Amino acid sequence: MAEEFGTVVIGAGIGGGTVVESLRDSGYAGSVALVGADPAAPYYRPDLSKKVMLENSDPAESALRGDDWYAAHDVSTFFGSPVAALDPTGQTVTLDSGEELKYGQAILATGSTPRTLDVPGTQLGNIHTLRDAGDAVAIRSQFGEGKRVAVIGGGWIGLEVAAAAKTRGCDVTVILHTDAPPLSSVLGHEIGEHFEQLHRKNGVKFIKEAETTAFTGSDSVEVVETSAGSVPADLVVVGIGADPATGPAASAGLTVDDGVIVDEHMRTSDGSILAIGDIANAHNVLREERLRIEHWDNAVRQAEVAASTVTGGSKAYDWQPYFYTDQFDLGMEYVGRGGADDEVVIRGDRAGGEFIVFWLRDGRVSAAMNVNIWDFGDELRALIGKEVSAERLADEQVPVGQL
Ligand SMILES: Cc1cc2nc3c(=O)[nH]c(=O)nc-3n(C[C@H](O)[C@H](O)[C@H](O)COP(=O)(O)OP(=O)(O)OC[C@H]3O[C@@H](n4cnc5c(N)ncnc54)[C@H](O)[C@@H]3O)c2cc1C
Repeated sequence: MAEEFGTVVIGAGIGGGTVVESLRDSGYAGSVALVGADPAAPYYRPDLSKKVMLENSDPAESALRGDDWYAAHDVSTFFGSPVAALDPTGQTVTLDSGEELKYGQAILATGSTPRTLDVPGTQLGNIHTLRDAGDAVAIRSQFGEGKRVAVIGGGWIGLEVAAAAKTRGCDVTVILHTDAPPLSSVLGHEIGEHFEQLHRKNGVKFIKEAETTAFTGSDSVEVVETSAGSVPADLVVVGIGADPATGPAASAGLTVDDGVIVDEHMRTSDGSILAIGDIANAHNVLREERLRIEHWDNAVRQAEVAASTVTGGSKAYDWQPYFYTDQFDLGMEYVGRGGADDEVVIRGDRAGGEFIVFWLRDGRVSAAMNVNIWDFGDELRALIGKEVSAERLADEQVPVGQL
């Protein structure tokens, strides 16, 4: 017979792990199950391309909380248990094992699945994507002095892996399919160029306008074949983006369109199912638009909104997107949502590596990024949407809090 729960959370990552904690913190007294495909308890995924690769840390050190927390808070865990189907009529979750769990409320937090390349040779050894702790440990086990690492893609994960591999002594080449600097689709050309120069200065090589066409080698990869030439490689990391993991949502017949469509309280098209984190295409009431955000802060805060919805609260999705990255000696935080062709205003010492970037659209601040300067988080967040001239933004005589 199916076990019954007040709430079943599907996906035990950052969002899933946070929502069970928020439920208990908000006094939810119902029974809770946390089901995840990953064999490990929820962990802090951003560490995988940073601490785990740079410091050889055990991914277990990045656990959101101790293993005994779940039992102590009466949360039943089903780790290493992928969900095969979600039936909203019978309010039942079916695990791969065939086991069934009944729910009053289900919360989907299944995250993203890395995209792969469909070219000859992908079955060769030492070709990886990076999403979970197993991937991170497999990748770092190949790092070493002079090891040739090819990173395909210049997004956040690709560049963080490139920085980690280079720092660990590898010979790193980033393969880009366009001529544009990495990250320029998010940060625009000028700031994308800043990241490219940061990597070049640290010895990372770039090959551009290079479409990957095949991998060759005997057992393990030896060469990445591209339209711009051959790149010898002992290790390949494919970082070409990710897609929302909407399998269970689709099996339930929920409305899915670039993620699971949810309102500002994280409610899907089915009254007893919520969705949060990377998979949620959610209505943001502050920005008055739909957003699907693949960042840690979003998963945590949407988890808190979902817990509020389940417990009869009124929290809503009403904040600006935020994320951060660490690469070599550059640490930054970004808030808002700039367009790649927004006007860029720099405040501070860009050459010295400590500065703030503002993006302006129609005279209003669309985004801000503090690079190696801290403690301005709240002030920068408050500026998003405000009308401020480029001259004033750049003028260091005007304190950030008075812009
Ligand atoms: C290497 C790496 C570095 C990152 N660095 C940063 C960073 O510096 N800053 C930042 O803001 N963000 C970063 N992110 C993004 C951030 O980690 C994600 O946005 C965040 O984890 C999303 O949380 P989530 O709960 O939606 O998904 P996840 O944390 O991915 O959790 C989803 C969970 O669902 C499970 N799952 C999937 N399908 C099923 C199923 N059918 N049944 C059961 N379980 C399932 C998965 O196994 C997974 O454990 C990084 C991501 C990666 C991979």
